[in-house]
Formats: sequence, C-alpha cells, structure tokens
Amino acid sequence: MSTSDKNTADLARRRFLSGAVALGSISIASGFTLYTASARPKGEPASSKIRWGLLIDTSKCDDCTVCVEACKTENGWEGHRGNLTDPQWIRKVDLTDKSTGRKSSLPVMCQHCDSPPCVDVCPVGASMKRADGIVLVDRHLCIGCRYCMMACPYGARSFVHEEITDQKPYMPRGQGTVEACTLCAHRIDEGQLPACVEACTKSGREAMLFGDLNDPDSAISKRIAQISTVKLRADLGLDPHVQYVNL
Ligand code: SF4
Ligand code: SF4
Repeated sequence: MSTSDKNTADLARRRFLSGAVALGSISIASGFTLYTASARPKGEPASSKIRWGLLIDTSKCDDCTVCVEACKTENGWEGHRGNLTDPQWIRKVDLTDKSTGRKSSLPVMCQHCDSPPCVDVCPVGASMKRADGIVLVDRHLCIGCRYCMMACPYGARSFVHEEITDQKPYMPRGQGTVEACTLCAHRIDEGQLPACVEACTKSGREAMLFGDLNDPDSAISKRIAQISTVKLRADLGLDPHVQYVNL
C-alpha cells in the first residue's frame, strides 16, 4: 500500500471506528476508492482517544516546497511577503551534518507538542491544546503579548502586524494576534487530510504520513514501530506529535 493509500485509509478507518460520522466515498490517486467520513458532527468535541501526528521522510524532500505552497493556498497566508507580517506556518529548513557533510531539507511547522510551552505561558488561555493533540490559538482571546512565540523552541509561531483583508472564511486571521500551523484541523474535522500531506502525496513524493498515533494499527504507528524516528529537540521533553525519519 502506498503512502497515499495509508494516509487515506487511516483517516477513513479512524472516522469509521469513532462511530461519529456519516459515511461517504472518496477516491485516491491510485484509483482505489475508500469509504470515509464526511464530517464530525457540529458541536461534538475532539476526542482524547485520538492523537493526530505526522511522520516526515526527509530523504524524499530535497528542494521541494510543495507542502509550503499548499499551506499558503489553503490557509490564506500567501501574498504578505515584504510586509511587516512574515507568516511561516510551515517552512523548509536546510541542515548539514558536520561529521558527514550530508545535507537535509526538512519541512518545519508547529510540532503540536504533547507538553506545549506555548500553552503554559499564555496568560489568557488563547493558546490551547485540543483533546486530540492539535495545538491552536484562539484569535478571539489572543491579546498579542507574544509570550508563546518566545516560548516556542521551533520558531513555529508568527505575529500578524497588518490588517488582513483576504482571509479564507474557514481560517480567520487577525491583526495583532499570533498564528501557526493548525494541522489543518478544519480539514481533519471534515474527514480530509492536512493540505500539505495531500499535496505532497499527490506530487508523488509521498514524504508525509498522517494518522492517529494512539491507534497501534494505524499506518503511522506501524511505521514508527518499525524504524528509528527523530523528534526535533527531543532533549526538551516536549514530545512533539511531528516526527522525522532519515534526518
Ligand atoms: Fe507550541 Fe511551538 Fe510546540 Fe507548536 S511547536 S505546540 S507553537 S511550543
Ligand atoms: Fe499548513 Fe495544514 Fe500542513 Fe499545518 S497541517 S503545515 S496548517 S498545510
């Protein structure tokens, strides 16, 4: 089964097993059709039985920026470069191993830490972790103090300086507030893959695997059980839900 099939099958399986969804059908690149959820019913809270995560194979990334462009398009943060606001919900980071000279180029977004310091330092509760592990900012509560930006060791959050005029209706952004990768919670809640994962898969690179880390039978859990993965700055003990391989 390809990464595309695994990503789609896991989401479908999780939605089905949760019993909280209506069933519909979707097709994937290979032409294989799976039955999957259409949406989580409105008003139903996220479940702590699920722990969404990402596994990224950096050996497939090199100079590709498909994931970054997909995130910009999906979440509406493109078109602000050159202004004060320089949002970077996801960015490519180039690394060189000094001992071997080996180069890596990895996508870095909010790592959706299990113990997120950005949540701990927020004085108004705007920075929060959902029951399913997704870390978000409530823009209605955010007072723009930027403590969370200082607390995040991954540089994953950015501050909106200018007035935003071309927002996506499903992804409100606000001047004077902090923002970051949402793991595309709006898509996950509708039974879809995060935009970056979908674009990466469609591009044929299949570097990103998304799924439920709490489910031992999910493709991502099985893959992580088989290989050695890396969590960025694991020494900090934040237990990121984003993991890397071949780094
Ligand atoms: Fe918070 Fe940064 Fe961890 Fe994301 S990566 S949960 S913004 S500390
Ligand atoms: Fe952007 Fe969504 Fe990917 Fe996060 S999960 S980096 S918000 S496309």
